[in-house]
Amino acid sequence: MATKPTIYLDDAASTPVAPQVLDTLTNAYRDLFGNPSSLHGAGVAARGELERCRRGIANYFEVSSREIHFTSGGTESNNLAITGVARSRRAGHILTVATEHASVLYPIQSLVAEGFEVSVLPVQPDGTLDLQLLEKSIRPDTFLVSIMMVNNETGVIHPIREIGKIAREKGLIFHCDATQGIRTLRFKPKELGIHLMSASGHKIHGPKGVGLLYVDQTLAQNQRALLPLQRGGPQEQGLRAGTENVPAVCALAEAFQLLNDSLEMDHAEAVEKRAAFIEGLSGIECSMNAAFDKSVPSIVNVRIFGVEAISVMRNLDHIHVSAGSACSGAAPSHVLKAMGRTSKEISQSIRFSFGRGTSRNEVRQAAADIVEFVKNVSK
Ligand code: PMP
Repeated sequence: MATKPTIYLDDAASTPVAPQVLDTLTNAYRDLFGNPSSLHGAGVAARGELERCRRGIANYFEVSSREIHFTSGGTESNNLAITGVARSRRAGHILTVATEHASVLYPIQSLVAEGFEVSVLPVQPDGTLDLQLLEKSIRPDTFLVSIMMVNNETGVIHPIREIGKIAREKGLIFHCDATQGIRTLRFKPKELGIHLMSASGHKIHGPKGVGLLYVDQTLAQNQRALLPLQRGGPQEQGLRAGTENVPAVCALAEAFQLLNDSLEMDHAEAVEKRAAFIEGLSGIECSMNAAFDKSVPSIVNVRIFGVEAISVMRNLDHIHVSAGSACSGAAPSHVLKAMGRTSKEISQSIRFSFGRGTSRNEVRQAAADIVEFVKNVSK
């Protein structure tokens, strides 16, 4: 039997590196090898590019370049934001949501051992957050709220502007993990009232191992409001010691440039791909795990009735998808659990995610292959 061509539907886990990004990366590795802290010509050249890229990304978000700090990705940015803010105080209360990424939940949980108090808010069955509950949960000693922009497993969009408003009114620091959000939504962190924002290169056709933490100037100016996690040199305004990965940053800036050029088109195409995919699945019994009108079109989390996700993934291994988040490996999804799904429902759920490179034909073919497989096993 001929092997079927691979269909990659896992852009939420990682996106293919764009050819222009790869060119930028290889050119920078060849030409910009100097240490950006060195004072000779090679160092000055590397520093010049590093700062040019910082300005480009800052322009994209309409923030000051002093507010952009390069990191190794979403995980590090989340850890730095949360632990950095908490350690600048001795005690207090932190609010987050049960469906956050592990790189938000674990650092927050580990702060309990350091004497902080934590409330992890539940979500509704469609994955959305009850804002009244958020408001009610704020205590006089609450200092930090960490809520993601777009959920990586379900695509659910949280009302960041409203959360930002609540945070402002109550005087809280608002950290937003926008690692998935940047892929599909155009926004300005300042307009949304975000103080700290995490983003990652490999979700926007950039390289892995590079990302950024946006730190609102008012926090950054207060030296004690955010403490670094690693000690060493004074790089990244003293917030992130270690020689900057200049080639990766150049590639990240290129990925942002491409995102800027195509975000609206990517979004419109994702709407069509999602519609084609869902229509393609109409021959089998399935349900969407998230609120359709409150989620990004590029992520579809589907429960296929009567069939284990793992069986679909093993038998249709030419279709690359995830059950839960890629970062959690084989562990059952904590996100679907928080949405009240049973173990059986979770085991039948698959995340499909589309990107710039996914074609409509691939989406239709994947749906057709799944329908054929499910009909065969249910015979
Ligand atoms: N937050 C979210 C919402 C994510 O989807 C991911 C990646 N799965 C991360 C954080 C971690 O980002 P990185 O892989 O760059 O460490």
